[in-house]
Amino acid sequence: MAVYSLPELPYDYAALEPVITGEIIELHHDKHHAAYVKGANDTLEQLEEARSKEQWAGINGLEKNLAFHLSGHILHSIYWHNMSGDGGGEPLEKDGTGELADAIAESFGSFARFKAQLSKAAATTQGSGWGVLAYEPVSGRLIVEQVYDHQGNVGQGSVPILVFDAWEHAFYLQYRNQKVDFVEAMWRVVNWQDVAARYTAARERAGTLLLAP
Ligand code: MN
Repeated sequence: MAVYSLPELPYDYAALEPVITGEIIELHHDKHHAAYVKGANDTLEQLEEARSKEQWAGINGLEKNLAFHLSGHILHSIYWHNMSGDGGGEPLEKDGTGELADAIAESFGSFARFKAQLSKAAATTQGSGWGVLAYEPVSGRLIVEQVYDHQGNVGQGSVPILVFDAWEHAFYLQYRNQKVDFVEAMWRVVNWQDVAARYTAARERAGTLLLAP
């Protein structure tokens, strides 16, 4: 019985056009995301086998694969809902309460400075990675992370609430080598209602990360 499963897209493949083509979304969801789901499930099975046989020679590779595939599954699951054909604009107009807009202003100085930091973090990934807005539960503030692959360069305990996929599979068929243009276009499909809901949930559920008893 598989532990993880591929979620349905919340819209049709072509719903984000012209920012992202239906061809990209179909391949990205049906092939790439599906592969991370399978990889996470396969790795859990391999770890179970290693435990039952007490064969630990492959433990380093298995732990690396678990972090990679599980993180890929989680980030893509958030990514699909972070985008909408009716998205764009700024959170102040879209999030209902203004709590997310206030948190962004408090954590980054202004929306414009936050946008610049996340755009730069996503566009300057070396190799494969993500630009991520995350809730950091020790300080109770928002931070931007430049994630390597799916799992590296992350502050432990942080909760991703807005993720920009900067892997070539996310844009290359449409934007070719113009990653900066892709990242700039992404802002036109950001679903701020979804980001705001994730911010509220992260604050309520993650609360304050206990560093000492
Ligand atoms: Mn991807």
